[in-house]
Amino acid sequence: MSGIDVGHFRALLEARREELRALSASAKEARKPVELDQQSIGRLSRQDALQQQAMAKAQDSRRAAELRKIEAAFKRLDEGEYGYCVECGEAIAPKRLKIDLTATRCAACAA
Ligand SMILES: [Zn+2]
Repeated sequence: MSGIDVGHFRALLEARREELRALSASAKEARKPVELDQQSIGRLSRQDALQQQAMAKAQDSRRAAELRKIEAAFKRLDEGEYGYCVECGEAIAPKRLKIDLTATRCAACAA
């Protein structure tokens, strides 16, 4: 028996997944190809645009990585493994799971 309210964590994971999907969708909308025409925009604003594009790309990959971890957490939920440490099999403290919904290790094993 799991000591945690699995349904509660599933709902939190679902909410977080929705949030990430919405963020990616709006980011995609905002991220138009950078206009490289020097005549239409100055050199500085071109650098700004490239910098913003790089930042958006980094955010995208962070979101993608988190989504992968969330999908893995759903798989563990389905298998009844969610909330248990993958190393020692002990229950992960709910406090720890609340901080990181996708935590796979207890505090002792993660340290
Ligand atoms: Zn452990």
